Formats: sequence, structure tokens, C-alpha cells
Amino acid sequence: MQRILVTGGAGFLGSFMCERLVAEGHDVICLDNFFTSQKTNVAHLLGKPNFELIRHDITLPIFLEVDQVYNMGCPAAPGHYQYNPIKTMKTSVMGAINMLGLAKRCGARILQASTSEVYGDPEEHPQTESYRGNVNPIGPRACYDEGKRAAETLFMDYHRMNKVDVRIVRIFNTYGPRMHPYDGRVVSNFIRQALQNEDITIFGDGQQTRSFCFRDDLVDAIIRMMNNTEGFVGPVNIGNQGEFTIRELAELVIELTGSKSKLIQQPLPADDPTRRKPDITLATKHLGWTPTTPLRDGLAKTIEWFQSIDLNDYRPPTPNYV
Ligand code: NAD
Ligand code: UDP
Repeated sequence: MQRILVTGGAGFLGSFMCERLVAEGHDVICLDNFFTSQKTNVAHLLGKPNFELIRHDITLPIFLEVDQVYNMGCPAAPGHYQYNPIKTMKTSVMGAINMLGLAKRCGARILQASTSEVYGDPEEHPQTESYRGNVNPIGPRACYDEGKRAAETLFMDYHRMNKVDVRIVRIFNTYGPRMHPYDGRVVSNFIRQALQNEDITIFGDGQQTRSFCFRDDLVDAIIRMMNNTEGFVGPVNIGNQGEFTIRELAELVIELTGSKSKLIQQPLPADDPTRRKPDITLATKHLGWTPTTPLRDGLAKTIEWFQSIDLNDYRPPTPNYV
């Protein structure tokens, strides 16, 4: 049994991470400022004796004693992280410093939820961890991409200089139950639109590609990375290697929902990556992990969850992310 801190623990991925760790019998502290999430995501855990919820912002220091830290606190959807880009950068950089300081003080192992966005609009395909990326440092996505790159730098410097026991995972597009229905990401938009028979908004010509990983596969890999005993620090790509155009995704969502929605085109946002697919050789070698959920099956489970919720309970993020 470990004492485990999950920052961003009320979010889409963080709440499922907390659920898994609580079920495994660990003593879990979920820390969140609820910028992009709601308490309902962890309400089912509140009565458990091994679960604790703290409202806190990781740009500020906090003193806790734990054995492991999963640093997941950061808005992840473009519409969320561009809402207050300065705050997004602060969350990645000051959040990393505060959490690394905490890990250093109490000798905890700490894992950073980094992202495939560190590769920017990649010129290498598929992306390996040794690829250094093609990020526009002054574009609208930079607050997130560069924030996460700086966080990786801090993790490696605390590791080299202060011997902090770190792990870095680079997460590729992940979807599943409990994604915020209004987060503006492609999977949530398409499912919401399809279920309401609204037009499905394809940005650009829809020929850009993404590789979509189901939440349960992703969380399994992250927990393996935290607990790997070879001293493998990463960074390691975690994602599904199936690569789909956005148009193919839209067609699949229409098929699975039986929707009458039409596909419409909207302008492609600036700096939108053209292609993305992880090379997961390192994850397979060091973690013995490969994703097992095909897109069709994961989407079916996600659609089922969207059908079970009341969209009125979800709103765009509150305008107080300062
Ligand atoms: P999410 O928005 O659902 O979760 C992020 C959580 O962090 C939310 O609960 C939010 O309220 C909280 N948060 C934001 N700023 C905070 C702050 N300053 N202090 C404390 N809490 C804060 O997003 P998610 O998809 O669950 O992403 C979780 C992590 O995984 C993020 O770090 C994200 O960058 C990373 N990631 C996710 C994906 C993906 O496809 N879902 C891909 C790459 C990386
Ligand atoms: N996208 C789209 N329609 C939408 C939302 C997104 O066509 O309603 C596109 C977007 O332009 C991008 C891809 O889907 O090419 C994935 O977008 P998302 O915001 O989910 O993730 P990211 O761009 O960060 O990978």
C-alpha cells in the first residue's frame, strides 16, 4: 500500500486513475482546482476511507507526505488550455516545480503526464521519443506544448541534479467515458453532435490524422510506468498505433450512433498538427504494454457513457482560471 497523490485527480484521466488506485487499496489524495472538471467525477469515491479530496491549485506550493505523485493537473483540450494561456504555462511550469519540490522533500517517485504535443506538427512519422519535435513557440498552442516541454526539462534536471526519482510519459490522444462533453476535443464534439443529430464539425478537409487510445489502456500503461523497477525514466510514448483521418472518425461515430448528422467543414485552427501516430516500441519493451481496445469498441463504450449523462450537468469551464 502506497500513499499516492494525483494532481488533476478530478479530471477525465485523473479520476479514473484515482478509481484504479483506490480499488488497489492505496491511500489516495486527489488534488484539483476544478478548472475543467467537476466533483461528480470523484463523488463515488468520497465515502471511501482510503480516498481524500483537496481543492488546491498546483501553481501554489503544498506540503503533503506521499510515496508517489502522478502529476496530471493541466487543462488538456485546446479550447481549455487556450482559455487563459498564461495560466496554462504557469500550471505546467510552476506546477512541475512545486510537485518536484514536494517529491524531493519527501523522497517520493513522481510521474509527469506529458504529451504528444511536445512533437508539435511532426516531420517524423510515426513519432519516436528521440524525435525532438516541431513546435511553433509563438503560436496559440505553444502555452501547452512549450509548457509541457519545459516541465519535461524540469523533471530531467531535478532527476540529474537532485536525484529525484522521476518518470515521464508522453500521452497521445486519449478518449473514453468521463471526457468533458464540451471540452471541444474531436471525440467529445463528434459524439455529442451525433447523438443530438447536429452537424458534425470537421476542421479543414478532415484528412489530418490522429491515433486514439482508450482511457483504460492508457491508465494501465501509466501505472506500469510508475511501478517499473528497471529504473526506466522515459520519456515513453503511450498511445494506440491505429491511425485514422478525422473524416474516418466522423464516419465511424455516425455509424455507431445511427445518427442523421451531416458532415460540415469549418476552418482548420492554426498550427493544427497534420499527422500523429506513436511509435510504442519503448513502451512494449520496458512496460510489456500494448493497447488492446480497438477504436470501434472504445467508441462504443464512450457513446454509451454519453447516452447515460445529462448534458445540462456539464458546462464549459468556469471563467475563473486565473
Ligand atoms: P482534464 O482537463 O479532464 O483534466 C485535467 C485536470 O487538471 C482537471 O481536473 C483540472 O481541473 C485540473 N487542473 C487544471 N489546472 C490545474 C491547476 N492549476 N491546479 C490543479 N488542478 C488543475 O484533462 P485530461 O485529459 O484528464 O488530462 C490529464 C493530464 O493528461 C493533463 O496533464 C494532460 O495534459 C495530459 N494529457 C492528456 C491527453 C488526452 O488526450 N486526454 C493527451 C496528452 C496529455
Ligand atoms: N477537430 C475537428 N472537429 C472538431 C474538433 C476537432 O475536426 O469539432 C480536429 C482538430 O482540428 C484536430 C483533430 O480533430 O485536427 C483533433 O483535435 P483535438 O482537439 O481532439 O486534439 P489535438 O488537436 O490536440 O490532437
